[in-house]
Amino acid sequence: MDIPRIFTITESAHRIHNPFTPEKLSTLGAALRLEPGARVLDLGSGSGEMLCTWARDYGITGVGIDMSRLFTGQAKLRAEELGVADRVRFIHGDATGYVSEEKVDVAACLGATWIGGGVAGTIGLLAKSLRPGGIILIGEPYWLQVPPTEDVARGCDASSIADFLMLPELLASFGDLNYDVVEMVLAGQEGWDRYEAAKWLTMRRWLEANPGDDFAKDVRARLTLEPKRYAAYTREYLGWGVFALMVR
Ligand code: SAH
Repeated sequence: MDIPRIFTITESAHRIHNPFTPEKLSTLGAALRLEPGARVLDLGSGSGEMLCTWARDYGITGVGIDMSRLFTGQAKLRAEELGVADRVRFIHGDATGYVSEEKVDVAACLGATWIGGGVAGTIGLLAKSLRPGGIILIGEPYWLQVPPTEDVARGCDASSIADFLMLPELLASFGDLNYDVVEMVLAGQEGWDRYEAAKWLTMRRWLEANPGDDFAKDVRARLTLEPKRYAAYTREYLGWGVFALMVR
């Protein structure tokens, strides 16, 4: 069981697999006013940077589930490196339908809401692991400006304009699901550049190390096109943020 190979090539050197910088991740942890010992569940935990740094900085304990064998392995190494391996646990597996045994104070899914079949489904899934009064975190893109055509939406790597909302509508949609938005931290363009541009050097290095690989042609084509695609589309049209929710 694993995710498509392209991601484990392009994002192999990422610690954070979303447009947050380390500072934003830290800001989010502080914004939530986490108590030492707070339990955090993270579906699609990637390379574990959120749980590991929050365990170090805010004393949380956590469980992360991720379908990438590579990223989960990196998360375990990061926990050891930061000296928090006794407080966070990373499980390699499909998080679809995952409900924790013990209720958690914070249940998160950042940049992987397809796990619950979309934002609403993921909120419903996370709610099953949450203690009464706990906080749900959803990390999700939104349109900075609505793409003028479906081609522009596809240029942003969306399947259609309908994939995402503008920020006001996204915030209102949480209310429609009977949740208060109690905090939010939004990514900036600097964070987007870190997330996207870091893939280019990783691809270039991978190509140099794997010239005969079956995948090299695809990676080469992608490296050639990505900088312009990113600057023309994603960078202009797409925002990203983490929204903290409490049921009304
Ligand atoms: N939350 C992390 C990772 C976001 S990228 C971060 O912000 O850094 C999306 C992640 O979802 C990837 O790590 C990918 O491996 C994982 N993923 C994709 N489908 C999944 C599934 N069905 N179950 C668990 N993890 C999944």
